[in-house]
Amino acid sequence: MLPLPTFRYHPDPVATGSIAASDKPCLVCQQARGFIYTGPVYAEPDLAAIPRPADPDACAGRVLG
Ligand SMILES: [Zn+2]
Repeated sequence: MLPLPTFRYHPDPVATGSIAASDKPCLVCQQARGFIYTGPVYAEPDLAAIPRPADPDACAGRVLG
């Protein structure tokens, strides 16, 4: 499990329930990062339509899993 980064405007997202510990893999890079975002999302509903990063470490979801 990777440590969470510091969220300047949301200092304890685990305590507020926005992020939870999880073994689930990221839907984009397929890597488990130890946490998952549990809050609402405004995004493209069809993930297959979104281009994947060539480098999984470049994935924006790498910390949230
Ligand atoms: Zn990812």
